[in-house]
Amino acid sequence: MAEQVAIEEGLFTWPSDDPRLLGSQCLDCGAIIFPVQSGCPRCASDNTTPKELGTRGKLWTWTIQGYPPKSPPYAGDVENFEPFGVGYVEIHDEVKVETRLTIADKDALAIGMEMELKFIPAYVDDDGNEVITFAFSPVEE
Ligand SMILES: [Zn+2]
Repeated sequence: MAEQVAIEEGLFTWPSDDPRLLGSQCLDCGAIIFPVQSGCPRCASDNTTPKELGTRGKLWTWTIQGYPPKSPPYAGDVENFEPFGVGYVEIHDEVKVETRLTIADKDALAIGMEMELKFIPAYVDDDGNEVITFAFSPVEE
């Protein structure tokens, strides 16, 4: 029986009733960092604490990945590759997060639009498990 597994340990709280991305906050300068880092990239302090990030943000920039990415090696099914959206979402008052988008429709994406966090199947691994990753989706008004 196939299971669902997280794409990377410690990247987000999942499974959960209220899954969140996991970052760090610097206790010296207040910078918020994603993903978790022990050192602050702004002030070089190592005085950081784990922080669960917000689930809403604004689309900062985006593109459509129209072919299997070369690096890191694409783990999905190259033969049946389907284009997907990628971009940066600026989580409100927190941090910009590089993310996959749930849609790949250039007419439906616009810089500055409100986005929300989702969890989606990324690919099926060699053991037949469904690998879950995070993505952002336009908020349905
Ligand atoms: Zn800092």
